[in-house]
Amino acid sequence: MTASLFDTHTHLLDRSFDADREAVLERAAAAGVGRIVEVADSPSGWSSAVALSRARPLVRASLGLHPYHAAEFTERTLVELERLIRLPEVVAVGEIGLDYSANNASTPRDLQLEVLDRFLTASKAWGMPAVLHCRDAYPDLISALQRHFHGPPKHGRFWGVVHCFSGTPEAAVACAGLGFALGADGPVTYPKNDSLREAFARVGPGATVLETDCPYLPPQSSRGKRNEPCSLPEIAARLAGVWKTGVEEAAAATTANGLALFGL
Ligand SMILES: [Zn+2]
Ligand SMILES: [Zn+2]
Repeated sequence: MTASLFDTHTHLLDRSFDADREAVLERAAAAGVGRIVEVADSPSGWSSAVALSRARPLVRASLGLHPYHAAEFTERTLVELERLIRLPEVVAVGEIGLDYSANNASTPRDLQLEVLDRFLTASKAWGMPAVLHCRDAYPDLISALQRHFHGPPKHGRFWGVVHCFSGTPEAAVACAGLGFALGADGPVTYPKNDSLREAFARVGPGATVLETDCPYLPPQSSRGKRNEPCSLPEIAARLAGVWKTGVEEAAAATTANGLALFGL
């Protein structure tokens, strides 16, 4: 493959990569992954994500507060984030968002919505794209996005990305219509996920970015194993099938979207 792939959402600082992080990055490069955005999901991980990016120019950092950690939000969170987003290593705010799944039942929904509002207001004021996490909460996410964004941006192409998109085809069209890219991950390769493939068919290559969300969500060929950025070609190939294009075109379009999304 000649077109370079862009893994727009990784957690390479996860402990599961401690033993072989260098080898993982080498395998990524060998698989044609030329760019990576490492996502720190709570303030405790922000400085290591910036340090990884500083050591690896092809890795950039996104700093946020996952809805799992919404209860940790304080005014200081935004003060510290505003200081760090000025660094050249930091390209986005996130992941932030809503998670109504059983895994996050202990975090009240009102609190998650309030924290999301604060981050959306801040990221828009700072001119930074938002990396949104959404699980079992698409109606509330779309309402929040409608309150903050009334359509696609006048300058640039995207306000942010709904990472690991897992909603309906209708939700996909609504998010793309508001100026958000959709992140496609391993689940798009799972045999049963026809509705998810239909969502990506509807928004097409113009609003899709690739991501592994590694170490989570391995694609079909490595289900049950730790995921890595080198699995990105499998996702690109599956989407090329959905869009009835060549893999090269799918790679080129999604990489261009990723570069536009993060202003690279
Ligand atoms: Zn997420
Ligand atoms: Zn993530």
